[in-house]
Amino acid sequence: MTQQQSHAPVPAVPAFNAERAFAYLLKQTSFGPRNPNSSGHEACKNYFIATLRASADDVRLQEFTETGYNREKLRLTNIIASFRPQERDRILLCAHWDTRPRAERDEDPKKRDLPILGANDAASGVAVLLELASLLHATPPEIGVDIVLLDGEDYGKEADHNLYLLGSRHFARTKPADYLPRFGILLDMVGDAQLEIPREMNSFRYAPDIVSMVWRTARELGVTQFVDENGDEILDDHVPLNEAGIKTIDIIDFNFPDQTHRYWHTHEDTPEHCSAESLGAVGTVLTHVVYKQKK
Ligand SMILES: [Zn+2]
Repeated sequence: MTQQQSHAPVPAVPAFNAERAFAYLLKQTSFGPRNPNSSGHEACKNYFIATLRASADDVRLQEFTETGYNREKLRLTNIIASFRPQERDRILLCAHWDTRPRAERDEDPKKRDLPILGANDAASGVAVLLELASLLHATPPEIGVDIVLLDGEDYGKEADHNLYLLGSRHFARTKPADYLPRFGILLDMVGDAQLEIPREMNSFRYAPDIVSMVWRTARELGVTQFVDENGDEILDDHVPLNEAGIKTIDIIDFNFPDQTHRYWHTHEDTPEHCSAESLGAVGTVLTHVVYKQKK
């Protein structure tokens, strides 16, 4: 037998299970707040590692530390789950998994120093990726996929950009020079029960072709939560990745729940304000994007 370029047929696109994704969201919030150095953070990290080891071909941890506001050492971990690790043609999918150690946008001043539950920010994006990981395990994609759960995105105080995006900065700073996935997709705040995702403007600037491809996929699938509008410019984990040469977009609905109300960075960021349907909308589009990638 000679070694020919005989590619297996492109696998059919598996169905994304919205209810299972929502169960992954609830599982994360069951650990309580997951801000760095909290017990919920440690327990949830161990849960992610065990869950991803059951689905991915390879799981690696990037452990690192940063100095927090009280001079404490923040123990942070990016979790990297790889599918088809030998493939050179790869894509990167990521979400931050830490939650905010404070709720400065809460109505009640007495509760502003308490850590938030973070059902939408950030359990929602991770929930979609965990469900996708089980699909990738059952139906291997044609290309390689790296799912990266980033730590320390939401630690910084407002207006102090130095202590935001800790995990993505660490990932970008330490990535091998030859690690250059075709593109990256970041999910953040995708669980809002009133989901409306406009195009995020940093994504549009860095990776307009990927934005177009994802929104076109949503349109073809009839997923109306991806709206044909330009949204805000948001500083998020995709920025360090783009600066490191990985063309990455951010799928984010920043208006949680809408333009006039705000659950963002409050104690209202709870599972009741999220929905399986919203996770399903984003998960379905993402699944199609992944399985349509050809070598
Ligand atoms: Zn946040």
